[in-house]
Amino acid sequence: MSGVRLKDTVTGIESTLSAGGAFIAIGHKPNTDYLKGVIELDAKGYVIIKSQQLTEKLKSDKSQDAEVNPMLKPQTETSVPGVFAAGDCVDPRYRQAIVAAGMGCMAAMDAEKWLAEHA
Ligand SMILES: Cc1cc2nc3c(=O)[nH]c(=O)nc-3n(C[C@H](O)[C@H](O)[C@H](O)COP(=O)(O)OP(=O)(O)OC[C@H]3O[C@@H](n4cnc5c(N)ncnc54)[C@H](O)[C@@H]3O)c2cc1C
Repeated sequence: MSGVRLKDTVTGIESTLSAGGAFIAIGHKPNTDYLKGVIELDAKGYVIIKSQQLTEKLKSDKSQDAEVNPMLKPQTETSVPGVFAAGDCVDPRYRQAIVAAGMGCMAAMDAEKWLAEHA
């Protein structure tokens, strides 16, 4: 590699920047376009799960603390009953493998409980 060819997307002017290496940054956009209109997503495309909604409710409604304690509810439930989500597609903050794996376990347990209750 000797450099990169650049094109200004506003003016259309092309130039060359000398460089001995390049770092390609990936993993910053959740691959959830196919879920649009099916499951509730936030403005950046992350799947919204109940724990986030419950935490927001808890902040805005102090009188309901006991009733809406997020830890008492299924944490990984999406806007569609019986559909649970975990990992990077719901997590704009940590985006780490161990967090995704732990959440995967939570989603599996939430799904198992949901199936038992709706069988
Ligand atoms: C460059 C980079 C470096 C990283 N370094 C670290 C690190 O050092 N330590 C660390 O802990 N984490 C690191 N991470 C983050 C880690 O990779 C993620 O947190 C983790 O992989 C998330 O797991 P996941 O199962 O949620 O998602 P993913 O691993 O992205 O798995 C999603 C899976 O779903 C599949 N899929 C997507 N769409 C569909 C579809 N429509 N139908 C069926 N399957 C589909 C994909 O092919 C993929 O296999 C790094 C990430 C990147 C991008």
